[in-house]
Amino acid sequence: MKNWAGNLEYSSENVYHPTSVQEVQQLVAGASRIKALGSRHSFNRVADTDGTHILLDALPQDIVLSADKTTVKVSAGISYGALCRALEEHGYAIHNLASLPHISVAGAIQTGTHGSGVNNPSLAAAVVGVELVRPSGELAILTQDDDEFLASVVGLGAFGVVTGLELSVRPSYDMRQRVLTGLPWDTALSNFRQIASSAYSVSFFTDYTGDAIPQVWLKALDSEPALPDLFGGTAASTALHPLPGMSAENCTVQLNEPGKWLDRLPHFRHEFTPSNGEELQSEFILPLSDAPAALTAVRALADKLAPLLFISEIRTIAADEFWLSPFYRQQSVALHFTWKPLQAEVEAVLPELETALAPFGSRPHWGKLFTPGLYNFAALYPRFEDFRALVHANDPAGKFRNGLLESVLGVPAPAGN
Ligand SMILES: Cc1cc2nc3c(=O)[nH]c(=O)nc-3n(C[C@H](O)[C@H](O)[C@H](O)COP(=O)(O)OP(=O)(O)OC[C@H]3O[C@@H](n4cnc5c(N)ncnc54)[C@H](O)[C@@H]3O)c2cc1C
Repeated sequence: MKNWAGNLEYSSENVYHPTSVQEVQQLVAGASRIKALGSRHSFNRVADTDGTHILLDALPQDIVLSADKTTVKVSAGISYGALCRALEEHGYAIHNLASLPHISVAGAIQTGTHGSGVNNPSLAAAVVGVELVRPSGELAILTQDDDEFLASVVGLGAFGVVTGLELSVRPSYDMRQRVLTGLPWDTALSNFRQIASSAYSVSFFTDYTGDAIPQVWLKALDSEPALPDLFGGTAASTALHPLPGMSAENCTVQLNEPGKWLDRLPHFRHEFTPSNGEELQSEFILPLSDAPAALTAVRALADKLAPLLFISEIRTIAADEFWLSPFYRQQSVALHFTWKPLQAEVEAVLPELETALAPFGSRPHWGKLFTPGLYNFAALYPRFEDFRALVHANDPAGKFRNGLLESVLGVPAPAGN
């Protein structure tokens, strides 16, 4: 079994698709090494195991709105695409989405997946309750006030198999999307926060070469003014794809045409393959206040990066409270890199990029390519030692651990596994 990008083959010996939570409990209780696998969209071995893989795609995909219609209970393996369609049918919505809808809700949340918007926290921030199968097979319900909740929501699958999630919802809303082209870099750097705040969700697309950022996508709530300022760029008069020269047919509707949140927040339409399937990704997250200096440092590497890049996307994310969230108590900017499928070349250049971003306290996206040995995670995450202690306490035999977790947490593989 390979991941979505096809750049890695999982090491599991068995793969199960349980049809009930009780079956999940039995599988977990009986395994010595086990890991939940979502929709396989991560680019590194965060979801790998040398034991049993458990996929939740055969569990009943129920979606239950609470009586006061402020939250929804979902089966953890459901995709955001299916969840969004069901919510919209009932007139409800979630606060933000990633760039593609095909990822599983549990897998996305476990790695801190996010969209964009200075006031929009990551997708995990919508979680108000977790149903989790612990190493013993016991079913636990975690709520917002307990430590295990704050550790395990963005938990890299280290605490158990999440079987259900309760998420905050809000009434459905309308949005409009416009693209600004040719934003001068000088203007972008001197007004970064202002431009990033000029709509509900803003994404900058660049390969760091040249004097201008080729595209800035602005997704505005229907209540927000349309492009209050062009910042020296030009409003696109035709629909665009973020990759230069590619048809915009697969992209969500632009040119300021109103539409529902689920048809504007993602860059790509639900029914189409989201982008080149043959690609790799990395992403680095740092304080929003450091965006101009960090972007200047990355531009200095443009000659090395651009030949390997399809495109880079710059987004902003509001702070959250999850101990291992890259946005833990930090309003953030995320520098995302969609690489060509040239893993050896990408891995050769990554350390130079990561070293250039290190002075800004850069935290890597947990589901994308990075070089674990370059990071002092205990210094980057104030609650890292608490996270590590709780992982040890909850899973002393390392049932849910794998090589990537061990290199992050600094613990050896348990004896006999
Ligand atoms: C084309 C593409 C676009 C992307 N766009 C974005 C984006 O816009 N923003 C962003 O932040 N990221 C993005 N990503 C990254 C992606 O969101 C993350 O890698 C995410 O974790 C993928 O979810 P998944 O369901 O495939 O999880 P997997 O890769 O299958 O698993 C990820 C982690 O979650 C754990 N996990 C999965 N299910 C469970 C469960 N039920 N219980 C406990 N643990 C579980 C796994 O063990 C593993 O640790 C993108 C990836 C791709 C391929």
